[in-house]
Amino acid sequence: MSAEREIPAEDSIKVVCRFRPLNDSEEKAGSKFVVKFPSGGEDNCISIGGKVYLFDKVFKPNATQEKVYNEAAKSIVSDVLAGYNGTIFAYGQTSSGKTHTMEGVIGDPHKQGIIPRIVNDIFNHIYAMEENLEFHIKVSYYEIYMDKIRDLLDVSKVNLSVHEDKNRVPYVKGATERFVSSPEEVFESIEEGKSNRHIAVTNMNEHSSRSHSVFLINVKQENLENQKKLSGKLYLVDLAGSEKVSKTGAEGTVLDEAKNINKSLSALGNVISALADGNKTHIPYRDSKLTRILQESLGGNARTTIVICCSPASFNESETKSTLEFGKRAKTVKNVVTVNEELTAEEWKRRYEKEKEKVARLKGKVEVLEQELSRWRAGETVKAEEQVNLNDINEAITPVSGMEESVVEQPTGPMPATPALMIGSTLGLEERQKLELERERLYQQLDEKDEEINQQSQYVEKLKEQMLEQDELIAGTRRDYEALQSEMNRIQQENESAKEEVKEVLQALEELAVNYDQKSQEVDAKNKEMESLSEELMVKQASLNTTTTELQQLKDMSSHQKKRIAEMLSNLLKELGEIGTTLGSEGSEIKISNDSAKLEEEFTVARLYISRMKSEVTNLTQRLQDIENKEQDSNKKVTEYEKELGECRLLISQHEARMKSLQESMREAENKKRMLEESVDALREECAKLKAAEQVSSASESEKKEANELRLALEQQMDQLRDAHQKQVAALRDEIAEKQQLINDIKDSNQKLSLAQQQLQSDYEKIKSEETEKSHKLQELIATNERREQARKDLKGLEDTVAKELQTLHNLRKLFVQDLQARMKKNMSNEDNEEDGGSLAQKQKISFLENNLDQLTKVHKQLVRDNADLRCELPKLEKRLRVTMERVKALETALKEAKEGAMRDRKRYQYEVDRIKEAVRQKNLARRGPAATIAKPIRSGQHHSLVAGGGVTRPQGSNPADDAQKRRSIVVGGKD
Ligand code: ADP
Ligand code: MG
Repeated sequence: MSAEREIPAEDSIKVVCRFRPLNDSEEKAGSKFVVKFPSGGEDNCISIGGKVYLFDKVFKPNATQEKVYNEAAKSIVSDVLAGYNGTIFAYGQTSSGKTHTMEGVIGDPHKQGIIPRIVNDIFNHIYAMEENLEFHIKVSYYEIYMDKIRDLLDVSKVNLSVHEDKNRVPYVKGATERFVSSPEEVFESIEEGKSNRHIAVTNMNEHSSRSHSVFLINVKQENLENQKKLSGKLYLVDLAGSEKVSKTGAEGTVLDEAKNINKSLSALGNVISALADGNKTHIPYRDSKLTRILQESLGGNARTTIVICCSPASFNESETKSTLEFGKRAKTVKNVVTVNEELTAEEWKRRYEKEKEKVARLKGKVEVLEQELSRWRAGETVKAEEQVNLNDINEAITPVSGMEESVVEQPTGPMPATPALMIGSTLGLEERQKLELERERLYQQLDEKDEEINQQSQYVEKLKEQMLEQDELIAGTRRDYEALQSEMNRIQQENESAKEEVKEVLQALEELAVNYDQKSQEVDAKNKEMESLSEELMVKQASLNTTTTELQQLKDMSSHQKKRIAEMLSNLLKELGEIGTTLGSEGSEIKISNDSAKLEEEFTVARLYISRMKSEVTNLTQRLQDIENKEQDSNKKVTEYEKELGECRLLISQHEARMKSLQESMREAENKKRMLEESVDALREECAKLKAAEQVSSASESEKKEANELRLALEQQMDQLRDAHQKQVAALRDEIAEKQQLINDIKDSNQKLSLAQQQLQSDYEKIKSEETEKSHKLQELIATNERREQARKDLKGLEDTVAKELQTLHNLRKLFVQDLQARMKKNMSNEDNEEDGGSLAQKQKISFLENNLDQLTKVHKQLVRDNADLRCELPKLEKRLRVTMERVKALETALKEAKEGAMRDRKRYQYEVDRIKEAVRQKNLARRGPAATIAKPIRSGQHHSLVAGGGVTRPQGSNPADDAQKRRSIVVGGKD
């Protein structure tokens, strides 16, 4: 920086005018192009409605973004890097092309506007500059809406305040300052700010037309050799639409907004007007935040360029005119620009020496002047050549005052000085100072209030956020509550259904019981039937028995007869024996007379006979016994045979049918036989007749009489014989028939009996099968009964517990009653003499209490029942709970995994981003060749710089050229 740069230079604000092409809607509406660009050497004037306006530059609709940048804004880059403040703002009605001019399409080489081009240029300049410079670049981005400053890089800051620094330069206090080290980082910040702006509002077009957006680039540089520090601020402002309120047709709050925006714009207009009118003592910077922020840019220490944007359409003619008027006024405003330099101690020392020198010089001059003055006052006239040369004095003064304003004090602009002087002429010095101080104090108060407001609004914002969070929480809990409620309802419903199920089960049980009763009744009936049938069977059996007894009797009879036969036999034998003995006695009588020995012999023979007889008798008795045994056996056999009889009867019945047929055939044969016999008889008669006839023919007639007589006798005999024979035959036949009849009858009865027996047998079997069936049923019923019994037992168990509880309650009640009674008695004894009314009341009380107790016991019972029901429900619910818990666990683990995955992805992404950044930077560096090193000290508490820092602190050794190129650098962050 050369020395002459330190001298403040007066510099009027540069105003350029840009017309955009007619847009589609204007063309459709048939708007005409009402502006004319007079042809001439320089394109710096336009005429509208016959009036001509002159500006520093006029851009026709076809002017490219590049042209606009090169001719209107480019010079500001070198100014800012040289330590000057700069401002570019775009003024004009909505859709006149302000944003197009300031921003354009960032990233598009043709359509990008002033801001991206400036940013790129600043960095390119830095890279191309001397090598011993270190740069700190930081950016802020905020918007002003309804006179509130909203930080676009930190959405929580919604109402920032404007303060003045120690040099009384206004700045936005608390605005986020982001340190950047490359154009990309600047563009990132811009993108972030724009997206924040989009998020906060519903209608972006409307919002952007009603708010001012301010992008501030702060460049600080330090010369590493002589520690000289320079700083330049560059404001890039996209103003709100300048159109009049009436045109937009706004109402209510919208109108308020519009008024407010127009207020700040009219404040801007007022400031410009006041500045344009050089005689105004007061500049109303404090009327709006916009004008306060732009205070330095308007009539202060800044190189300012205003781009006025206009529409060429006839429809917008009046607006265009007023915009042009604004530009015209602004053009007259003069700024005083100085370099913002921070001096080193040595520099200060040098300057101090200089000042001292100057003071000494001035002191000498003052002395000379005072001498001259005293001479004048004394009435002398000083000759022209003796007079002090005032020019010499002025020469001495000028640089000094300049230095004071620009460097030592950091001037607030020439304006405050001018009015001070003006007031000074009318007011006393003290009064003036007082007023100044007062004003200072008031301003300070105002700023403090602003700060307070800002804090309060931030607080409000925070509270709002908290409220939102709380709302969300409430909504969440409400949702949870609802879910729980529904869950509870569901459970209750399930409970109900379970209860109903239980009821149904009970009903089913009852039905079963009823069924069981019915079945048992049926069984009883069947039993009775069976009994009657068995009775019948018994009767039948009895009849069978009687028949068997009859049979037995018959048998007995037969055995009796046999015995009798045996007896008769034995008698016969005895008789025989007697006969024998008589015979023997006759012989013995004879023999006795003859021989006694022979008698003895005969005795022995008789004895032998007797013994033989005895043995025979014993044999007989044995045989009898055998027979009896056999009889018993046979009896047994009879019973067996009876069984066989049953079978045989069947056979009989089968055979009987055959027998019948046989009998019939027999009868037929008989009949035939009879017929044949008759024919035989007839033939015999004929034969006899014929023989007689022969005899008659052969014998003489004499003999005829004899023969006739013979014949007659014969015939008679024959007839008699025939008759007898026939009678005999008939009698025999009748007998046979009778016998047959008898046999048939017996057979019939036998058959009947056997049929009846069969019937009985089948009945018996039927009954038996029925019985087995019944017994099966019975067993089933018994099983169901057992189950019922089990259920009953369970119920009983429950009842028992309830009963126990009731018992305890009852005991308690009893105790209570006893207690009460005892108390009553006590009372009675205490109040013996009191009237009966008291005891009556007490009785009533007791009954009341007893009622209460009853109710309580009822309630208790109910509760116990409910408790039991709920206890039944409990395991089910627990199971469900376990299932839900498991589900929740599964979900949690899934969530955890997802989170971990997301973390991993994020890390990977971060790493990737860093890597890409690094690569890009390396590339840039490689492109630039030996260029400035970008050191990026990490600022504590600055999230962004921390994040970015990770990518920037790259190893110095990676670029071998670095060691040689360390002198020039852009420092991001650092000692601010
Ligand atoms: P403002 O910010 O003043 O409201 P914009 O910059 O948004 O207006 O411009 C409105 C429209 O006109 C945009 O679509 C923009 O692209 C277009 N526009 C503005 N100026 C020009 C120009 N010089 N050339 C071409 N199109 C333009
Ligand atoms: Mg815009």
